[in-house]
Amino acid sequence: MFSFLKRTKKKAIELHYEGEVYTCKSSETVLDCLERNECHRPSSCRTGVCHSCVMRVKKGEISSISTDGLSAEEKAKGYFLPCVCQPKENLHLSDVDAPTHEVDVLHHEKINERVWRLRLSRPDSFHYQAGQFISVDHAGLVRSYSLASIPSDDFLELHILQVPQGQMSRFLCQEITVGHSLNISDPVGSCFYNVAYMHQPLILIGTGTGLAPLYGIVKDALNQAHQADIYLYHGSLVQKDLYLMRELTRMMDLHDNFHYVPCVLNEEAPEGGLQGNLEAILPQQHDDLSASRLFICGNPEIVQSIQNVCVAKGMPLDAILTDVFA
Ligand SMILES: Cc1cc2nc3c(=O)[nH]c(=O)nc-3n(C[C@H](O)[C@H](O)[C@H](O)COP(=O)(O)OP(=O)(O)OC[C@H]3O[C@@H](n4cnc5c(N)ncnc54)[C@H](O)[C@@H]3O)c2cc1C
Repeated sequence: MFSFLKRTKKKAIELHYEGEVYTCKSSETVLDCLERNECHRPSSCRTGVCHSCVMRVKKGEISSISTDGLSAEEKAKGYFLPCVCQPKENLHLSDVDAPTHEVDVLHHEKINERVWRLRLSRPDSFHYQAGQFISVDHAGLVRSYSLASIPSDDFLELHILQVPQGQMSRFLCQEITVGHSLNISDPVGSCFYNVAYMHQPLILIGTGTGLAPLYGIVKDALNQAHQADIYLYHGSLVQKDLYLMRELTRMMDLHDNFHYVPCVLNEEAPEGGLQGNLEAILPQQHDDLSASRLFICGNPEIVQSIQNVCVAKGMPLDAILTDVFA
């Protein structure tokens, strides 16, 4: 009996990192364990979305969920996301050489009561797809922000919502000025336009600064002479929370296949817009979604509920690209 118990006793899992060995508790992720042992690492969303905590496993098996969203090249190098990795065996870990770029603030403008538009210098070696996101690092505080610019722009554009008591957003909206330097990561994310979609209707939906990646994706698709219709629904609670209305209306005047629809929940919508919630508006406006490609960005609950509506209407999950501001 005693020898049976001895044989089945679960072995503690060890994390080997920077010459130290840490014992991981059964409910802990790799990130939890390292932090409990005072190995402070960059992290932000803690749900595997923002990629700011990425590490490399040199020895040991990791779950496939902890490499979700990484490129084949990153996976082949052993990169994984420690915030969603509960180890099942001993792991030998190292840091990745996360490339950082020092950029300067070129433009800093308030574009509605709570949103600022930042333009940053674009580093020479910086290649991205419109709609991807970057991590911004300010004195060790790391947050993700979507790119609203397109690859042919010679600057990088961000739209930042100032959230109450938000550490990074207060810094980016209230404290920095033109000429300030910031550190940013390489771009990540898979929510972007692909020329393979050229003949499919595109439907883009977002609330608040969820407009940032969508704005980049629309401009990219139009630049690449997208052939089918493009519908952009930007939702807000009240009219004054909408932004870039004039620019988007001008884009609509220039492109017959682009339709911009501002949507307001609690007030009358501006001219050309619709009143109501996005989950209801979408099926009312699009009877058949089966041939379309959908992009949904911003607030996690809204992204999820719009995705559910579209799947219930028969849209295949792989035709939906999302960027969740977790
Ligand atoms: C992939 C990705 C892309 C993103 N892109 C953008 C973008 O383009 N523009 C943008 O503005 N943000 C974007 N975000 C969100 C951004 O990373 C930060 O979470 C946000 O700026 C808040 O950070 P903070 O340090 O100011 O707030 P924190 O100091 O982290 O939080 C302060 C308080 O605010 C709450 N809070 C955090 N975010 C919000 C919110 N959005 N609304 C209301 N309350 C909030 C927190 O729960 C907390 O109580 C993105 C996030 C992800 C994961």
